[in-house]
Amino acid sequence: MKFSHRIQTVKTSLTLEITALANELKAKGEDVIGFGAGEPDFDTPDNVKQAAIRAIQENDTRYTPVGGTNELKDAVIQKLKQDNGLNYQRNQIVVSCGAKHSFFNLAQVLWEKGDEVLVPAPYWLSYPEMILLAGGTPIIVQTSEQTGFKVTPEQIDGAVTPHTRAIIINSPSNPTGSAYSRKELEGIAECALKHKLLIISDEIYEKIVFDGFEQISIASLGKEVQENCVVINGMSKCYAMTGWRIGYLAAEPEIVTQVLKLQSQSTSNPTSIAQAASIEALTGPQDNVVRMVEEFTNRRNILMDLLTEIEGVSCYRPAGSFYTFPDFSAFYGKSYHGETVKGSVEFARFLLQEAKVALVPGIAFGADNNVRLSFATSQEVIRQGMGRIAKAVASLQ
Ligand SMILES: *Cc1c(COP(=O)(O)O)cnc(C)c1O
Repeated sequence: MKFSHRIQTVKTSLTLEITALANELKAKGEDVIGFGAGEPDFDTPDNVKQAAIRAIQENDTRYTPVGGTNELKDAVIQKLKQDNGLNYQRNQIVVSCGAKHSFFNLAQVLWEKGDEVLVPAPYWLSYPEMILLAGGTPIIVQTSEQTGFKVTPEQIDGAVTPHTRAIIINSPSNPTGSAYSRKELEGIAECALKHKLLIISDEIYEKIVFDGFEQISIASLGKEVQENCVVINGMSKCYAMTGWRIGYLAAEPEIVTQVLKLQSQSTSNPTSIAQAASIEALTGPQDNVVRMVEEFTNRRNILMDLLTEIEGVSCYRPAGSFYTFPDFSAFYGKSYHGETVKGSVEFARFLLQEAKVALVPGIAFGADNNVRLSFATSQEVIRQGMGRIAKAVASLQ
């Protein structure tokens, strides 16, 4: 079979692959501990589930407007105002089948061959692939643990060419848990405006922040910044609704018009029932989010303590999200059963085979010295899994 050049340039999602491999081992009866989860382990809040059940019973089951119902758009607008201090109108919002879909649509309408998009690494692994699918070129800008995995204006200056169209900011970040302060965002915004770059701000983890971190949307830094920014967000992470597939973007009307055109000829509207549930998630009681963040905070503390106990490992202390991104490269070059651990992929395979612990190799996110450990799993599992990891790495020769 001949396949398109377009699809041949794209890799399958490594996180989903590792999860599948771990699940396969589990199905065989192996006692695998998973640190791979890219989603909250909490259930969708009850009030949200009830809203969906009501929607079904009330026959809220037909096509909706392509970019979402007015009721959901209004809930999103109210949320952006309340949480982020942002003003948008209905013609600036598109609801899609997850934030990933929002980004995909955006890439398709904005970029093509010859367009460069700055992607600070470590990055969410789908950004480069979706840029490639659109025909554009992801330009990876490497950051390091020493600078808190944050890109600086100087780095942007150094990476910009006449073909650069946009920069992606994901704060708090998957996979590092790093988050930008207001001052840092101001520096980036100023630099982006200077180079006439569109800022794509993925804020999907905005509510999952620790120790009173002040979460800021870069779009809120001024009128001109907002006009040059697309805010992407969704229900998946903060409301434990990954399976419901609702995300949205907020942007200038001219961008929205193009995204709606694409969505009208592809998926049409996201599920009507999930939209009804999302209105409840955004406008109903928020106590579940608060409880979830409290628990994530405790787990992060436990995981960080256990990671720093392992000699040779360094790990950035996450300000948000539910991931840690430790550097295990001190163990690269060591061996087990005659096999050498050369990089993050071999290291992840080693832990899966020898310790029955699943995690995601950092190379998937553009950082081969690191691995991603999700703490969207219980404290008990974290303790047990970290015990296994400590024992396994001690056995490397
Ligand atoms: C999970 C995730 C998304 C996608 O979420 P959806 O389920 O598609 O809404 C987007 N960006 C980042 C950084 C993520 O981790």
